[in-house]
Amino acid sequence: MPRDYYEILGVSTTAGASEIKKAYRKLAMKYHPDRNPGDQEAESAFKECAEAYEVLSDEQKRQIYDTYGHEGLQNSGYRGPGNFEDVFSSFSDIFGDLFGFGSARNQARRNGPVPGNDLRYDIRISFMDAVHGTTREVDITKRETCWTCDGSGCRPGHQRQTCPSCNGRGQVIRSQGFFQVSSTCPQCRGEGSLITHPCEDCHGSGLVAKSKKVSIKVPAGVDTGARMRLRGEGEGGRRGGLAGDLYVIIEVEPHEFFRRDGDDIHCRLPVAMVDAALGTKTEVVTVYGKKKLTIPEGAQSGTVFTLRGQGVESLRGHGRGNMYVELQVMTPINLCEEQKNVLREFDKLCEKHGQKDEGEGFFSRLVNEVMGRNH
Ligand SMILES: [Zn+2]
Ligand SMILES: [Zn+2]
Repeated sequence: MPRDYYEILGVSTTAGASEIKKAYRKLAMKYHPDRNPGDQEAESAFKECAEAYEVLSDEQKRQIYDTYGHEGLQNSGYRGPGNFEDVFSSFSDIFGDLFGFGSARNQARRNGPVPGNDLRYDIRISFMDAVHGTTREVDITKRETCWTCDGSGCRPGHQRQTCPSCNGRGQVIRSQGFFQVSSTCPQCRGEGSLITHPCEDCHGSGLVAKSKKVSIKVPAGVDTGARMRLRGEGEGGRRGGLAGDLYVIIEVEPHEFFRRDGDDIHCRLPVAMVDAALGTKTEVVTVYGKKKLTIPEGAQSGTVFTLRGQGVESLRGHGRGNMYVELQVMTPINLCEEQKNVLREFDKLCEKHGQKDEGEGFFSRLVNEVMGRNH
């Protein structure tokens, strides 16, 4: 059972935005990985705070959480922290580059745990899969923690030995004239210790290449550029460090009939000229199936019909978007002589009813306007 978000941040359920931000800032400073190198408890506390902050700082998510709790968030499509927003990016929004974030995180800490690298995987999915959600099994070859040595790189029964060149400092000092120049120890590469008996399975790296099947659940409603974060599916950590994360970047293929605009779907519906003139009942295909559509008498090209809730499921739990159907009145082509004659008759009737004037009246006004300017 996940912990209560208010409890994690130590604020009351009526706390305002600035109070929540302040509480988070304080805790994040306390548990930040750079301040607690190698402390896995601090790291998970840090992630827990980030998750609590991500929900409570978002009015919409907070409301869902207040009403329905953790389960409500999951049902609303919120699939845990950092799936679509990187907790670390929201972190740096608040703190800026206070910690020189990123570089410090990946820096090898001397003898301490080294977290695994994050990995990126791009997938291309069809328009319909993006609308309805899909699951992809992918084979990812990555470096995982070596189980023989538990990521230490040392043959079982052996330990890292203090580097004799730098006596474990990781730095060596050379004299250059009056100056003393300190530089990274070349023998241990700054780590301060050496592996004297490398593990036979990973040759001392602590990592072994493995191919792993990863199941990627793509939620309904994703669009191109959506980023999912699969915790712990990145490269393995060394010396007890946490595994990195796998970022899945989504690209959605265009569709020949439907076009996405956020959670809305647009499409064009061709309608025969006679149907548009007389009105008709027709069917339009949405991404969920067929829908009846009544086209009124005298419908014009460019008229847009709105089908509420026939768009895409919102990832943020706002429900479905709409579908907009734009009429495209088709001028008949390849007419036989008989059809043409009927249209000529029709044209005469239009003239008789004075229905041709509107277009021509506009045209003559336009001509007068243009000619008037030229004189
Ligand atoms: Zn050294
Ligand atoms: Zn090993």
